[in-house]
Amino acid sequence: MNISTWPDIYVPKYPVEVPSLEIKASNGVHLFSEATTSMYVCGITPYDATHLGHAATYLTFDLIHRYLRVQGSQVSFVENITDIDEPLLERAVRDNIDWQTLALQQVELFESDMSTLHILPPQHFIPATSVMKLIDEAISRMQQNGYVYKVDEDLYFDVSSFLVNLPVTHDEALRIFGERGGDPERVGKRNALDPVLWLANKNGEPGWESSHGFGRPGWHIECCVISLRYLLGENYLNESHGGYLIDIQGGGTDLIFPHHFMSAAQAKALLGKEFARSYIHTGMVGLDGEKMSKSKGNLVFVSKLLQDRVDPMVIRYALLTSHYSKDRMWNAAILEKAQKSIDRIRENLSKSEVAPAQPLLTKLAAAIAKDLDTEQALQAIEDWCLLSETNPQVDEAGVVSRALDSLLGLAL
Ligand code: ZN
Repeated sequence: MNISTWPDIYVPKYPVEVPSLEIKASNGVHLFSEATTSMYVCGITPYDATHLGHAATYLTFDLIHRYLRVQGSQVSFVENITDIDEPLLERAVRDNIDWQTLALQQVELFESDMSTLHILPPQHFIPATSVMKLIDEAISRMQQNGYVYKVDEDLYFDVSSFLVNLPVTHDEALRIFGERGGDPERVGKRNALDPVLWLANKNGEPGWESSHGFGRPGWHIECCVISLRYLLGENYLNESHGGYLIDIQGGGTDLIFPHHFMSAAQAKALLGKEFARSYIHTGMVGLDGEKMSKSKGNLVFVSKLLQDRVDPMVIRYALLTSHYSKDRMWNAAILEKAQKSIDRIRENLSKSEVAPAQPLLTKLAAAIAKDLDTEQALQAIEDWCLLSETNPQVDEAGVVSRALDSLLGLAL
């Protein structure tokens, strides 16, 4: 699939000095104060874009991206598209549509949703199907390093030397692995948790020629290879690397295991270094008290909200009302409340005299710098609105407007 990323979005300059970003990542607290930051965020499997869980995740990394830029760090940001995977193929069969056509349609929808929600594009937005040669080479290198074995014609990754770092208990790992694309029961594997690297072609399934036979890659090796190739450069397999390979690995908490664990293990098996300095995970979004999932059929889609004439900035604001790391519930009242807040902010931004901008800008930056405390940031905006309504003093609505756009992506 030939894909280009969505159009760039202008980020106004933030006119005050900001503190360094501090994030409570899944592997501890991390301070981001380097001149450059590399960030890899796991992208969609293009068959059900873009539900609110996706939107909440990409919005979180957009806040990080924006803040790092405001702080003066140069951000290299890569995102993948898992455009060959079991769920995509199953959906294509169910809907009687060619899998590539389905993927392309869903990627286009995703890009349009991201653009509309004002989410900054990655520099590289890479479909797995475009990196088959790179995956082939990486598997060969892993084979030389002694981490690959065969079961029938399929290739597996030997994860045994990485299991000391399992983020969950071994029993939980087995259960989750089975639920999220793994095959713990397969006879002939060295360890039940070993993930597939290259799956030999089954009748009629899409496949690619490779030095490991005609077939397709496993899920984790796709992200491992795309992140390393596009964040470290095309010669990444033959260069030496120091410390950590990348700064940020991001995604939803449902990716902690097995996906992020396996990608990191495979990166280490390839290059002998730790994969990411920080693993940042976003909570899940539920609907009206229930878990939101495709099996329950209660996914809320961004495109549906937009069709219903919901203002994208209201969706964005509504998603900012909860902390990114917590699981949250979505309901119509959250959207209504967000609409009221946006109306109030817009009304104040249209005035010639408002409360001074500087104290608000300092508070906003301090809130976001502290583990993306969006609740605190929105409170500061509400306080500024109240002050602007009761004691307007200066002609600084434009400064505030540009700052909200810059830091929070709220273009009002
Ligand atoms: Zn991934």
